[in-house]
Amino acid sequence: MSTQVLVVGASVGGLTVAEALRRKGHAGPITLVGAEPHPPYDRPPLSKEILAGDWPDERAFLRDRAQLDALGAEFVLGRRAERLDAEARKIELDDGRTLSYDTLVIATGLVPRRLSFQGGLGGVHTLRTLDQARALRAHLLTALNVAVIGAGVLGCEIAATARELGLSVTLVDPVPVVMARQLGDELGALVAALHVRHGVQVRTGVGVAGLAGDGGHVSGVELTDGSRVPADLVVVATGSTPATGWLAGSGLSIEDGVVCDSRCRAAPGVYAVGDVARWHHERLGGSVRLENRTNVVQQALAVADAIMGADALYTPIPYFWTDQYDVKLQIHGTIPPGARLRPVDGEPGQARFAALAEVDGLAVAAIGWNHPRGVMAARRRLAPQS
Ligand SMILES: Cc1cc2nc3c(=O)[nH]c(=O)nc-3n(C[C@H](O)[C@H](O)[C@H](O)COP(=O)(O)OP(=O)(O)OC[C@H]3O[C@@H](n4cnc5c(N)ncnc54)[C@H](O)[C@@H]3O)c2cc1C
Repeated sequence: MSTQVLVVGASVGGLTVAEALRRKGHAGPITLVGAEPHPPYDRPPLSKEILAGDWPDERAFLRDRAQLDALGAEFVLGRRAERLDAEARKIELDDGRTLSYDTLVIATGLVPRRLSFQGGLGGVHTLRTLDQARALRAHLLTALNVAVIGAGVLGCEIAATARELGLSVTLVDPVPVVMARQLGDELGALVAALHVRHGVQVRTGVGVAGLAGDGGHVSGVELTDGSRVPADLVVVATGSTPATGWLAGSGLSIEDGVVCDSRCRAAPGVYAVGDVARWHHERLGGSVRLENRTNVVQQALAVADAIMGADALYTPIPYFWTDQYDVKLQIHGTIPPGARLRPVDGEPGQARFAALAEVDGLAVAAIGWNHPRGVMAARRRLAPQS
C-alpha cells in the first residue's frame, strides 16, 4: 500500500497510528503535523513525575531520535493545521502550505477550558502541555498558597503533587463530590478523604465567583459563598474541549468531538483517534469519547487496522488510572453517580482494596485501590455491556 497518510496531531495517538501502519506493512509516505515544537511526548507524567521534579523533561518523550528516524515519516512540528478541505483531500497549515492526503487521521486531542473571568492575571495556570508543566513547576517552587479550581482527575493530581512539594493547597469545585464524573459518590468521597488526610483544604459544593489580583498577579479566589481563598498560584483544571476548531466548515460532523462510526471513521478516508474522537461504541449502544491514555493507544491500533483494510468494531472496556500520593487508583468500566461499591478484596477505605461498582446488582466497573491484581480479577466479573 503506497497511499499518502496524513496525521494531524503528533502526540501519542498520532504516533501510535504511524508506528502501527509501518508494522503492518504500509510502505507509503506518512506525514505527522504537530502544533507543538516538541517530538511526541507523554502527558500523564506532566501532572505527576515531571511536575514533582522527579523526572527530567526528556523522560516524557515517547521515542528517541533514532526511533523516530527509523519510522521513515515526515514530522512537521510547530505547525498548526488550520483548515480541512475533505472534498479535495487537503489541509492548510498556519504557514500557508497545503498538504494532500489519501487517508487523514485526526489526533488533535483537547484544549483546556478557560474561566470567563481569567483575564490577564499572572500566576494563573492551565496544564495540558510540556511547556505549561515547565511553567507551572517553576512557579510551584516559589509559591506559597495554591488554589486548584476543578476537582476532576487532573485537578486532584495537581493538588496532590503541589501538596507533596510542601505547599498549602485548596481544591475548589462547585460539584460536592471530588472526581464525581469518573468515580461516582462513594469512591469520590474516599478520594476527598485522601486529600484531607494529606492536608489539602477541600472546598467542594461551592462555586468560583472570580479571581482577586494585586499588581497584575493573582492573590486569591473569590467563592460564591462570599469567602476568599488566598492564593499566589491558581491552576484552572475545569476540563477541556476537543480541538476541532480547525475543522469548521469541513463538512465533518462535530459534536463534542469528531463524530465517527463504529470503525472510528468520520468520512471516506478520514479517521479520528484519541481524546478528540467520538465514536459509536456498538457494545455500549451509544456514542462515546474517552480522555485517557489506554484508549488512545488501543484506538490508534484499531484505526491503523482499519486503514489497512480490516473491518472490525472498536468496542473497548473503558480504563483509566490515576496516581495521587501513594495511591494508584485503577478503574475498568464506567461508574455512574449512584453506583454502590461491593468489596472483592479488602474494604473501601483501607490502604489497599479491590471492589466492583454495581447498579441494580449488575457489576459495571472494577476498581483497584493500590491493588493491580485485585482489579484484574474484579474485571472478569463485569457485566457484558460494561
Ligand atoms: C496532565 C495530564 C495528565 C494525564 N494523566 C493521565 C493518567 O494518569 N491516566 C490516563 O489514563 N490518562 C491521563 N491523561 C490523558 C492522556 O494523556 C490523554 O488521553 C492523551 O494524551 C491523549 O492523546 P491524543 O494523542 O489523543 O491527544 P494529545 O496528547 O492531546 O495530543 C494532541 C496533539 O495535537 C496537537 N494539535 C492540536 N490541534 C492541532 C492542529 N490544529 N494542528 C496540529 N496539531 C494540533 C496538540 O498540540 C497536541 O500535541 C493525562 C492528560 C494530561 C494532560
